[in-house]
Amino acid sequence: MEGRVASETSDSSNWILLTVPHANCPANAPEASHLCDSLSNGAAECIYEEKLLGNKVRVLKPFIPVDTPRTICDLNRKNARENPYRKGLLDFVKSNTKEILFVLDVHSYPDDHEPWKDYLLVVLDDSVEGRERPEIYSEEFVRFMNSTGTRTLLARGKNNDIHEQMRENGKKSFLLEFNEALTADRERLREICRFVLLWFNTLVPV
Ligand SMILES: [Zn+2]
Repeated sequence: MEGRVASETSDSSNWILLTVPHANCPANAPEASHLCDSLSNGAAECIYEEKLLGNKVRVLKPFIPVDTPRTICDLNRKNARENPYRKGLLDFVKSNTKEILFVLDVHSYPDDHEPWKDYLLVVLDDSVEGRERPEIYSEEFVRFMNSTGTRTLLARGKNNDIHEQMRENGKKSFLLEFNEALTADRERLREICRFVLLWFNTLVPV
C-alpha cells in the first residue's frame, strides 16, 4: 500500500467511485442534531459535476440510494456489511476492479465541530489502524490541497469500515469530510471539488 497510486495502477484505472453512507437525513431531524451529513450529497454531486471539465478521471456517482438513516444503521461500520448499500458497493468494486483507481467516501461535519472547525476539508487516511505514519499518498494529497489555499487537515481513520473493506479488496480510499460552512458558499465548494479532481488527474497517465 506504500507509494504513489499511479505507479501501482494500470493505464485503464481511472474511475473515482463516490460513496455517501451518511447522506440519508431522517424527516424532521433537528438541525443541530447531526443525524446525517447534510452536505455529503451536495459535495459528492459537486465532485461528480466537475468531471465535465475535461478530466482524465471518470467519476462515478453514488450508484445506490442511501435509504438507511445513520440512526438505524451506520453504513460505515463493519456490522453494516449485509446492508444492500454495502453489498452493492462490494459487488460493484469486485466486478470493476481494474477500472477503479480510488474510492472517495464523502462526509460532512458541522462548522462548530471543535477539532475540525478551522478547516474546510478533513482527510481521513485509510492506513491500517495503529500504523505509525499515514500513507504517502494521503500526505501528498493533503499537501496539494493546502497549496491551493484549501485549509485541509490529515487525520487518521478509526473504525471506518468502507476504508477497511476497500483495503481488503486492494482499493485505496480517502474519507473526505467537508465543513458544512460550505453549504452557504457553493462557489467555494465547487472550487474545492475542482482541486480534488485536479490532484487525481495527476495520477492518471495521459
Ligand atoms: Zn459521516
